[in-house]
Amino acid sequence: MRIGVLSETRPGERRVALPPEAVSALCAAPDTTVTVQSGAGRHLYATDDDYRAAGAEIVDSAQQLASGSDVLAVVNPPELTVIAALPAGASLLGLLNPFQEAQAMLAARDHGVTAYALELVPRISRAQSVDALSSQALVAGYRAALVGAQLLPRFFPLFMTAAGTIPPARVLVLGAGVAGLQAIATARRLGAVVSGYDVRSAAADEVRSLGATFVELHLETQEGAGGYAKSQSADFAARQHAALAPYVAESDVVITTAAIPGRTAPLLVTEEMVAAMRPGSVVVDLAAQSGGNCALSKPGETGVFNGVSVWGGADVPSQLPVHASKLYGANISAFVALLRAGDMQDEILAGSRVTEGGRFVHEAVRNALA
Ligand code: NAD
Repeated sequence: MRIGVLSETRPGERRVALPPEAVSALCAAPDTTVTVQSGAGRHLYATDDDYRAAGAEIVDSAQQLASGSDVLAVVNPPELTVIAALPAGASLLGLLNPFQEAQAMLAARDHGVTAYALELVPRISRAQSVDALSSQALVAGYRAALVGAQLLPRFFPLFMTAAGTIPPARVLVLGAGVAGLQAIATARRLGAVVSGYDVRSAAADEVRSLGATFVELHLETQEGAGGYAKSQSADFAARQHAALAPYVAESDVVITTAAIPGRTAPLLVTEEMVAAMRPGSVVVDLAAQSGGNCALSKPGETGVFNGVSVWGGADVPSQLPVHASKLYGANISAFVALLRAGDMQDEILAGSRVTEGGRFVHEAVRNALA
């Protein structure tokens, strides 16, 4: 198996699909070679020589890399010319964002490439090792808590000093999936008093298990398929906003992480709710790139509204590229092991396969792009 590792070119992207330590483990497998595009590890301080020492060959051009690969490992969908250079029957593996990246998916189909989108991996226990959404959400959640602490002009922990007592910051985390739970855990470690909220009832115990308070809004739960939240009605959103408003107003930091798969992120913090927060408070919106949980957030920007800082996340896992790539590389390596095992009916492979043999084989993607 010839595995290629592309140097990512999208603005803001600082991760690599396979860091040197993952390459070295892959190269130890029989009949496996790894080729890396020059400079692929630059943001993690991994040089071409580090990759050579791990057993990889280095090439300069993305097209040359693709044309010699059976499996091309990427973080984002590559440029169309790179997809076109892959041999027919080769696999393209990464966070391909298939519902939004129609051009890349059509190119994969038309060139006979088998595209696997890691976002589509079923959330089953056996799939945890290939679950890149979870590994990257963990990075984003951790980062969100640090951003909140950094923007807040106050301490997070309680201090009892000779110069007086400082009360701990109050942090509210909206959306308690993987990112939200990590934001809760990190804010707790920094000493804040933390509460969390989610529309899924299972989240309540998870929030409490981290030592945070679960905010009970007494609204109906919104459980969808596969353990995800379902899309919510305008009426539900209006009642949710009214119920959340006092909790948001009394928080020093609000971290929002709510998402619904394949949909625009739900609006949780309205302009009026930001206006009711104390000056100096902070909103950290991890969903800014997918529509925004906060009405005022813009991806990659920090705005200040009546003294309230609103930080919109953009490429957040890339802000910690060393460990984001390490975790992602472990996901890619585990996926490659499944490909090597060769059971194409395996539900992880079948569930994440978008194109194969010149057609769309994932029904939802086919319907969305038709
Ligand atoms: P996600 O990124 O899709 O969404 C983040 C959170 O936002 C979710 O908890 C969701 O319920 C919540 N949310 C949606 N709308 C909301 C609203 N209006 N108000 C408040 N919260 C709202 O979620 P995720 O982190 O990917 O996790 C989703 C599910 O998948 C969870 O049940 C999790 O336990 C499960 N999961 C399973 C596995 C596995 O078994 N391999 C791995 C990871 C996650």
